[in-house]
Amino acid sequence: MNTKDILSKIAELNKISARLDPDESKRSELLKCAAEFTNQFISGLNKAKGFSQKQASSLEITNSEKKLSALLDLYQKEVVETGIIAASGKHLGYIPGGGVFSAALSDFIAAVTNPFAGAYFASPGAAAIENEVINWLKSVFSFPQNAVGCLSSGGSISALIAFTAARDKYKIKNELIPKSVVYLGEQVHHSTQKALRIIGLEDTIIRYVSLDDFHRMKTDVLDELIRKDFADGLNPFLISATAGTTDTGSVDPLNDVAEISKKHKLWFHVDAAYGGFFIMTSKKHLFNGIEKADSLIVDPHKGLFMPYGVGAVLVKDSASVLHSNYYSANYMQDALNDELLKSPANLSPELTKHFRGLRVWLPLQLHGIEPFISCLEEKLLLVKYFRNKLQELGFFVGPEPDLSVSYFWYPFNTDADSKNKLLMDLIHADGSVFLSSSVINNRFVIRIAILAFRTKKETIDEAVRMIKNCLSKIK
Ligand SMILES: *Cc1c(COP(=O)(O)O)cnc(C)c1O
Repeated sequence: MNTKDILSKIAELNKISARLDPDESKRSELLKCAAEFTNQFISGLNKAKGFSQKQASSLEITNSEKKLSALLDLYQKEVVETGIIAASGKHLGYIPGGGVFSAALSDFIAAVTNPFAGAYFASPGAAAIENEVINWLKSVFSFPQNAVGCLSSGGSISALIAFTAARDKYKIKNELIPKSVVYLGEQVHHSTQKALRIIGLEDTIIRYVSLDDFHRMKTDVLDELIRKDFADGLNPFLISATAGTTDTGSVDPLNDVAEISKKHKLWFHVDAAYGGFFIMTSKKHLFNGIEKADSLIVDPHKGLFMPYGVGAVLVKDSASVLHSNYYSANYMQDALNDELLKSPANLSPELTKHFRGLRVWLPLQLHGIEPFISCLEEKLLLVKYFRNKLQELGFFVGPEPDLSVSYFWYPFNTDADSKNKLLMDLIHADGSVFLSSSVINNRFVIRIAILAFRTKKETIDEAVRMIKNCLSKIK
């Protein structure tokens, strides 16, 4: 191809490829359209239901230019109006969070500017923001300044990073695997076993520690199990306690677990994915001992109400995290300098990644930390209010919860489980407010998980009205 032909082909292609870079007036038009859509979405949340059983359809990608407004109409119909409206305060199932607006704006800005947050040299500022969020988390959980950590996509990947560090610190490999023992509470989140399986520890022995009446790990049982396993020639190495279980929001006695793991020289991990940020509230005392953990995970997309896709992990032993994630850590040990720890990619399986730091850093700076704490305090009171209201209707409720998750069931005289299940189905079909169920102590129960920042007293009143109405259809 001669230069003239090349230039004419480039000019031809550019006519099409330039569509990817709209000019300022086109950008303003797109922004206006997106702003209108998102404003209407948020303003409409109070009136909309919390859940719809409608299925999605027709989202096929076709090779033609379409209007943003038309695509947003499709998005409204197929995404916004199907399933759980997770941005709504009416999401009281699983573990909600909501997604604060300023975090969405941060994501937008992060995506437009698109800095490479994996490597310090590539974007010192973006890496510094990621690291500052980790530093802030260290101070929240009283972790030492020389602990390391990273922002991940969520609790599951955070657990993977923490357990990999534990595995590499204790050199759990080859013939040691089937002799190695992990201790978990009976209500452990399934991402824990999943992470162990993914990192090659499927064949370790898992001991499930029984729970007390408040669904907290029985530490005398834990201690006895570890003693016996050592006596039997096994290799105990990891205890995972939970600070806020998914089922019941219970916080294990962290300080006691810390003492036991110290005595037996095991790795002490805390899953604070859901409950962690309640350490900033009047429930602080429940978290005593969390600062003694070797690793902990916490999800800003739960207790800081960020949009889905941001978790965090903190680990004290930086060398083991580097061993797992820094490709040349073995022969670069002498170079374990500050610079190395400033690059998020050295502490995580990810290299090129979403610049998640901004969506945490910017909202904390913009609003201050106080509103986040007030929101968490409010959730603690709302769960008490909800339980009182349910008891007035004749429901039985679980034990006084540690945090903002609880459960209830109706004491039907016959077939209680199937009738409570029917009640759950009616609640889902109604959809005013979304709740989810579980099985606790062999009983079918309906869970209450109050964490979304938009959940208010009015939301609970609406939930109570809906539950009362659904109950009347069964009795
Ligand atoms: C949500 C949750 C997880 C998993 O976190 P993801 O962010 O969903 O991957 C782990 N542990 C607990 C206690 C949780 O509530």
